[in-house]
Amino acid sequence: MNKDIATPVRTKAILEKHGFSFKKSLGQNFLIDTNILNRIVDHANLTEDSGAIEIGPGIGALTEQLLRRSKKVVAFEIDQRLLPILEETLAPYPNKKIIHQDVLKADVASIVAEEFAGIEDVMVVANLPYYVTTPIIMKLLEDKLPIRGIVCMLQKEVAERIAAKPGTKDYGSLSIAVQYYTETETVMIVPKTVFVPQPNVDSAVIRLAVRKTPRVSVKDEAFFFTVTRASFAQRRKTILNNLTSQLPAGKEKKEQILTALSEASIEPTRRGETLSIEEFAVLSDALYPYFI
Ligand code: SAM
Repeated sequence: MNKDIATPVRTKAILEKHGFSFKKSLGQNFLIDTNILNRIVDHANLTEDSGAIEIGPGIGALTEQLLRRSKKVVAFEIDQRLLPILEETLAPYPNKKIIHQDVLKADVASIVAEEFAGIEDVMVVANLPYYVTTPIIMKLLEDKLPIRGIVCMLQKEVAERIAAKPGTKDYGSLSIAVQYYTETETVMIVPKTVFVPQPNVDSAVIRLAVRKTPRVSVKDEAFFFTVTRASFAQRRKTILNNLTSQLPAGKEKKEQILTALSEASIEPTRRGETLSIEEFAVLSDALYPYFI
């Protein structure tokens, strides 16, 4: 087997050879612990017939482990300077495709359809750049890609918000959005020492299993998300105050909002953080006729 990329000595040698300097603005914190990498890949339950999508391969530490344990890996890397490095470090592995693009701007759905034709099981596995964790996760879910799920490293604090339950301080529109599409679990807490350079925040690995159908059924998905975001705009405010101040022409529609809350059996004095996803679905459907 080829020597692992993700050891402190090999990583240092690769970086020095190429005169690579980290760009903090691109969230470049590379993993230098093969044990952690293998555990991340374990959580993805790949087989030799699986495909893997990686966001931000860096110098290929995780990519290499994915290549050893799947049929094909497609990786999106924004930093041009890493392309020649990846070409060299991943040279022993033919089953890869490195795409030089900002994943947020990429047409991931078309790329997945093209690159994974004939592959049924596809997982996203990534050590995400922390400055764009949430937009990347939301894009992957909203694009409704044909994936089984996502296993990714991210800030522990964001992992807590994603997995939060109603009635807790971390529960908010991000928890609802991710739990709407997926079953969510935190599978690992990761120390700073396994990265170079070490990030300023603690990290965690989460596993998101994409649901066959969303957790709740609503009349209009976009409006459901508008209602959930509005309800958390100011956490200390009541749901009634947030909805009247945040929904379009909400102030003029206070009576209708009160009617919808009553139809949904939700006290207007409750706070958004106390509502379950199911209650938000009923509320959003009750409000919908007044806002189309
Ligand atoms: N996978 C490598 C590892 O685990 O060692 C590197 C992970 S590092 C946390 C994040 C990587 O994402 C960097 O290589 C960075 O250049 C890349 N990146 C940052 N923003 C990106 C974007 N918008 N699209 C694609 N890649 C991005």
